[in-house]
Amino acid sequence: MTNHLFSEIRTRMPDLSRPFLETADGTVISYGDVIEISGRYANALVSLGVQPGDRVAVQVEKTPDALMLYLATVRAGGIFLPLNTAYTPAEIDYFVTDAEPKVFVCDPSRQAALAPTAGKVGASLQTLDASGKGSLRDLADGASGDFTDVARGKDDLAAILYTSGTTGRSKGAMLSHENLASNARTLVDYWRFTSDDVLLHALPIFHTHGLFVATNCLLMAGGSMLFLPKFDLDTVLKLLPRASSMMGVPTFYTRLLGSDAFTKELVAHMRLFISGSAPLSAETHKEFSARTGHAILERYGMTETNMNTSNPYDGDRRPGTVGYPLPGVELRVTEPDSGKVLAQGDVGIIEVRGPNVFQGYWRMPEKTAEELRADGFFITGDMGRVDADGYVSIVGRSKDLIITGGFNVYPAEVEALLDEIEGVAESAVIGVPHPDFGEGVVAVVAPKAGAKLDTASVAAALKDKLAKFKQPKQVHVVDTLPRNTMGKIQKNVLRDQFKGDFA
Ligand code: AMP
Repeated sequence: MTNHLFSEIRTRMPDLSRPFLETADGTVISYGDVIEISGRYANALVSLGVQPGDRVAVQVEKTPDALMLYLATVRAGGIFLPLNTAYTPAEIDYFVTDAEPKVFVCDPSRQAALAPTAGKVGASLQTLDASGKGSLRDLADGASGDFTDVARGKDDLAAILYTSGTTGRSKGAMLSHENLASNARTLVDYWRFTSDDVLLHALPIFHTHGLFVATNCLLMAGGSMLFLPKFDLDTVLKLLPRASSMMGVPTFYTRLLGSDAFTKELVAHMRLFISGSAPLSAETHKEFSARTGHAILERYGMTETNMNTSNPYDGDRRPGTVGYPLPGVELRVTEPDSGKVLAQGDVGIIEVRGPNVFQGYWRMPEKTAEELRADGFFITGDMGRVDADGYVSIVGRSKDLIITGGFNVYPAEVEALLDEIEGVAESAVIGVPHPDFGEGVVAVVAPKAGAKLDTASVAAALKDKLAKFKQPKQVHVVDTLPRNTMGKIQKNVLRDQFKGDFA
């Protein structure tokens, strides 16, 4: 039995003097340091009682130390459980009570507020701050860097990530060593990452995108990262000349396009721009290509499955699609109610199976059974279709599907047309209660900087392009759309805001 994820990373490491990451203030962590520092943290965790299978819950700012703690947990045979820094102590209480970690690491500013929660489950409460200092760091500094990785099998858990839970209670997705390792291996090959790559990393590390897609990929490739605490436009513009690749959510790309300093020359040397976690509009994709000559590579994944599909590295990266199923991933589209597999081209629920698919929801066997079929396919809850060339398109979450007068309206279809209207920066289409139709289609649009939009002309622009039942019965113009930290539009917020439109 090997310690799967980290032992594989180790066997792929470049010369240990090579950099693994560099922070904005110039601190460099080499691959040798990765082994040494994560070893110290692993010893610190063991001294706090962490045994194989124990959870280590972490709500801390993004620092190199936080990443070392992730690797340390995996090396010690523990289960890493990162928590969104935006969660309040009341929200944290739910996760920590549910997960019962052996160690809980928080920002020192929250120590007092979180002590009762830690006490309730008997977790050792430790701290790490935004500069990587705190009680856990002190323990690690005093520990040896020699650590013999605890043996783990491929199905043993490496992490639990809670889903964002916009429709009910958040669920802990259990991810095994092989779930993480297999996906990183696949992505390194598919996206051609090598030890020469320098990834600009401005994503949060409490989410699958920044933690697994970005970090595991670069570790498996032996490459390095420019590691920023968050996406700051000026810093990103300053560092892009030193990067070879970037992974981002769509808002990173729209923000870059909003700056005159973002020019073709600035990024002429770049190898790859990748987008995911939320739909990249075809408009943004095209604008980016026109400005830079680079076609953004869009991929699709989720917490429970890691990455499922990707546009090709060589070949056509089609705007508005998420590309092909990755090697080793099977994808099918099914009818929501019966589960019947649909014909190519039909819209239905996307289901996926492969070594990337999680082990189930933590302590929720009924939820696991509802969403993981007996044959191993996971029901993603995303609606989509596969075109004649095999490209997958997402048309929205099944819960966002609008049924108006008995007809289905897929928000993505209407949003794509809204985005094409002169002066529209972004749009969201939602269904709200309607006395005659069950749900009525409502469009919410935000204007580009300096542009003026009026609701009548937005509605008029769709007139000849869409069947009447798909046309918004109400249009709202807002300054910006509400988004969460991963750049996803919060449709639940909009549905709440406009629920009285047809009352
Ligand atoms: P999360 O678990 O937070 O990563 O969210 C996963 C969800 O984000 C998926 O189920 C999709 O609804 C959405 N998503 C991720 N990538 C894309 C993409 N490229 N296009 C459209 N939706 C996406």
